[in-house]
Amino acid sequence: MRSNVADYSLIQPTSLQEALQTLASDPRYTPIAGGTELMVALSAGRLPQKHLLSINHLYELRFITATPNTVTIGSGTTFTDIRRSAIIASDFPLLVQAASWTGSIANQNRGTLGGNIVNASPAADSPPALLAYDATLTLISAAGARTLPYADFHLGYKRTALRPGELLHSITLPRIYSAYRSYTRKVGTRNAQAISKIALAALALMDDTAKTIKDIRIGAASLRETPTRCTAAERALLKQPITPQTIAAARAALLTEARPIDDIRSTAKYRAAVAANLLEEFLHTLSF
Ligand SMILES: Cc1cc2nc3c(=O)[nH]c(=O)nc-3n(C[C@H](O)[C@H](O)[C@H](O)COP(=O)(O)OP(=O)(O)OC[C@H]3O[C@@H](n4cnc5c(N)ncnc54)[C@H](O)[C@@H]3O)c2cc1C
Repeated sequence: MRSNVADYSLIQPTSLQEALQTLASDPRYTPIAGGTELMVALSAGRLPQKHLLSINHLYELRFITATPNTVTIGSGTTFTDIRRSAIIASDFPLLVQAASWTGSIANQNRGTLGGNIVNASPAADSPPALLAYDATLTLISAAGARTLPYADFHLGYKRTALRPGELLHSITLPRIYSAYRSYTRKVGTRNAQAISKIALAALALMDDTAKTIKDIRIGAASLRETPTRCTAAERALLKQPITPQTIAAARAALLTEARPIDDIRSTAKYRAAVAANLLEEFLHTLSF
């Protein structure tokens, strides 16, 4: 049944500080950014939180800044902002690709990177790239700020390390991947406007002779109950040449860590098989 909007209230703090003070003093409030998750839930009668605090207009959360070593993206940055950023395109192309896959253009104009992360769907598009790039999150509350590796943020299905009263402030990426080969692919029902059945984002650094893998990082969506880094497959590939034996070992390792689910979008069997195929496709690109 649809919700009655009269049952809901929305406040719009004028600054980040005011937002944090309100979240600290009144735990009933839930932040709403672009609203592309929350408004769907509200519309469908599935939004138990009745008190919403808008952070959508807070310029303090919508920015992209760079230093020689890092790029920091405010949580309120939209997917359109990401698609238009020259520095993200040059240094973090996997993230631009993920942004371009996220829903429709209208969705990308409103939906934020922070909302995608905190919503914590195992099928979301940006997490595999953020895991591959070793993102660090900055979380803020009225009590101060703390940082956390993104790899430690997801604690279980839709459970995160975000504490009551905290907001995701920003996402920081190290600018160290210019020599890495990159690969990403999302498999869904259609090419556009589809949530992934399975997705992979991967980076590899080859040694000077381009024969063996010096470093490798693989992020996946819909492979487990949270977005996940495929550490067993990475271990099977590290310091290895790209041979049929290595590829077989990496596929087998990936299947040991895959715990996909059956749901309306796909089956666990399909997801695991296609994840291994995507990994193999990536590894073939490294042998050229
Ligand atoms: C038609 C449609 C298609 C879609 N397609 C895709 C797709 O292809 N791929 C995909 O990944 N997603 C897709 N989505 C989901 C959605 O658009 C994204 O997850 C988007 O990034 C959510 O961001 P938002 O700002 O709108 O989040 P909101 O709806 O505002 O919030 C989502 C959650 O995050 C919390 N939150 C938001 N910002 C913060 C913050 N800074 N700090 C703390 N908590 C915060 C909110 O409290 C809420 O729990 C789709 C949605 C729709 C409606």
